[in-house]
Amino acid sequence: MSITAIKGMNDILPGEIETWQFLEATARNVFGTYGFAEIRTPAVEKTELFCRSIGETTDIVEKEMYTFDDKSGNSLTLRPEGTAPVMRSFIQNRLHTLDPVSKLFYMGPMFRYERPQKGRYRQFHQIGAEVLGVEDPKIDAQVLSMLNQYFCRIGIESVSLQINSLGCPECRPGYRQQLIDYLEQRLDSLCADCQRRYKTNPLRVLDCKASGCKEATVDAPEMLEHLCADCEEHFSAVKKHLLALTIPFEVNARMVRGLDYYVRTTFEMVTDRLGSQNAVAAGGRYDGLVESLGGPALPGIGFAIGVERLVLMKGEEKIIPPVPQLFIAALGQAACDQAFVLMTELQRAGIRAEMDYQGKSLKAQMRRANKLNAAYTLIIGEEELKSGEAQLKCMADSKQSQAKLGQLAELLMEKLTK
Ligand code: ATP
Ligand code: MG
Repeated sequence: MSITAIKGMNDILPGEIETWQFLEATARNVFGTYGFAEIRTPAVEKTELFCRSIGETTDIVEKEMYTFDDKSGNSLTLRPEGTAPVMRSFIQNRLHTLDPVSKLFYMGPMFRYERPQKGRYRQFHQIGAEVLGVEDPKIDAQVLSMLNQYFCRIGIESVSLQINSLGCPECRPGYRQQLIDYLEQRLDSLCADCQRRYKTNPLRVLDCKASGCKEATVDAPEMLEHLCADCEEHFSAVKKHLLALTIPFEVNARMVRGLDYYVRTTFEMVTDRLGSQNAVAAGGRYDGLVESLGGPALPGIGFAIGVERLVLMKGEEKIIPPVPQLFIAALGQAACDQAFVLMTELQRAGIRAEMDYQGKSLKAQMRRANKLNAAYTLIIGEEELKSGEAQLKCMADSKQSQAKLGQLAELLMEKLTK
């Protein structure tokens, strides 16, 4: 048996990677316009970082983390999400001393031990962004505007933005208790998971996919009806700014997020094209997080986009990988050696050149040039070596022209940029 990859962890192959590169390059471009700088953190962190930030009673910490002891007995975890590591780095490197407002973005693999299925993997990738230091609801709208623009730029239209407010430490506890009381009356209808967690994490019940839980909570009290005056004002302002920026959104009062650190504005970009994996991006405000991790009391807001889900949505719309600009067909050992030098010189000059390495016949080499979709071919044999000139053939119109081997790079550049 040959060795295979780990279940739920995928290779990204040539032919697929072009879509990824496009999605990543567009993120760098759009986020850069909004003043965000890229940050890269390690794939592994101390387990405590995630337990303290994401929350002990969340799905991620309860059952989805890849946690192990290293050889010194330290508990380490493959990062299940990007925000906590970015906060850790922000605090450790004292980034707030450089600028009162930090706008950061990241991209990279995340790890969660989930049941693999379409749009849900054990190693998956996120592109995320965070703003630290701004409480003004304008920044909520700006982050959503950036997310919206990103989706426009990558050409994905079938998504809609849902927003909600989860209140703050001022108003949430009262609401939470009301929800617990409400759920207590309906315990028999809840699934086993929710019966277990309704007291420790009642909001998660609103998010449960089990039909019994859905039915039992149709009339459940909503956080939006229990916001304190400050949260109410903040949420109204977010909506006002979104309207001013003509960003379409819907309020979804039942949307809760699976991480404990969210307060006030939360949001998801959802689609109906991916079955139950319907969220392609999600995020929200996390005003107390930096402080709770030992940093300054700075507000924060951010989101993460699931790249695999974007790739699925881009679907058949494949981005064509670059084809060779020249294929050199060589006949005989001496010509082959010369072709190799020529090819390397062209590559050094920035031209995508290819040749055959298997001593194939001229016919077979030309077949390969065709298969690779090379723009031009050049045939060199003994004659050409002697004269220093060869026929350059344009594969699109089969037109041939005489080319001096010593000036091939210049000639090709000229032809290719026409
Ligand atoms: P879901 O409800 O689908 O489990 P989530 O609430 O756990 O998502 P977040 O932690 O908010 O997801 O992560 C942000 C985004 O990352 C999600 O909207 C999704 O697009 C993507 N994502 C999360 N988990 C996975 C996974 N296991 N495989 C692929 N993408 C994922
Ligand atoms: Mg999840």
